Amino acid sequence: MPVDYHIHTRMCGHAVGEMEEYVEAAIKKGLREIGFADHIPMYFFPLEKRDPSIAMREEELSYYMERVREIQKKYYPYPIKFGIEADYTPGMEGELVAILEKYDFDYVLGSIHYLEGWGFDNSRYKDGYDRWDLYELYELYFTTLGRAAKSGLFDILAHPDLIKKFGFKPAKDIIPLYEKTVKIIAGSGVCVEINTAGLRVPAGEIYPSPGFLEICRGYGVPVSLGSDAHKPDQVGCNFTEAINLLKAVGYREVATFTGKKKKFLGI
Ligand code: ZN
Ligand code: FE
Ligand code: FE
Ligand code: ZN
Repeated sequence: MPVDYHIHTRMCGHAVGEMEEYVEAAIKKGLREIGFADHIPMYFFPLEKRDPSIAMREEELSYYMERVREIQKKYYPYPIKFGIEADYTPGMEGELVAILEKYDFDYVLGSIHYLEGWGFDNSRYKDGYDRWDLYELYELYFTTLGRAAKSGLFDILAHPDLIKKFGFKPAKDIIPLYEKTVKIIAGSGVCVEINTAGLRVPAGEIYPSPGFLEICRGYGVPVSLGSDAHKPDQVGCNFTEAINLLKAVGYREVATFTGKKKKFLGI
């Protein structure tokens, strides 16, 4: 098993277990390297709209860093990276940079969980899908993903087709939309994440879909690998399936990051 670069901690308010338990689960599964990437504080919402069951508060970020540093020392020389899962909000790039530049993250995952302020991946707000023409919704999602890539703020685009989470898919062919988006991603140099959490939700398939991944492969887009674990036993979950998918599409390596510098590890 190569790496799991998408691991949460209970600091986000909706994950459980001690950080030690995540590390021990990873070692037991034979992962060569891991990275914590907890949710960034909700900088994109005014203070009163920030939900402590979604992300830590801004004052807690330095404690998160200290905890990761402690765990790195405790398990040295086992490689544990210091990452973050950062929401991308068009127009708020400056606010995000202000947070990111305060810490020396090994890598930054870029995620889209909100479109026009609507938390489309939160089951509490699932009704919101009724208000949309699904093709237009997908267009907005993938256009935003392309902007996230072009922003240059991220090393890895997390769960690149999260919009399929609840299984809502447009009837119209979305391959041209994938093509257009992947072309932008390829031009930006950012990696795409293979995220196995999609197998645990109604979508029932890895993020991104095989069709999206094939186009990534065609354009030479590098990949990362993550479980999006919110419980220790989810570390490295379904990675055999993820690696088989990567190999089937033609990938032979995944990216790793140290201080934002990319290296490759064979799969
Ligand atoms: Zn989460
Ligand atoms: Fe996410
Ligand atoms: Fe996550
Ligand atoms: Zn995630």
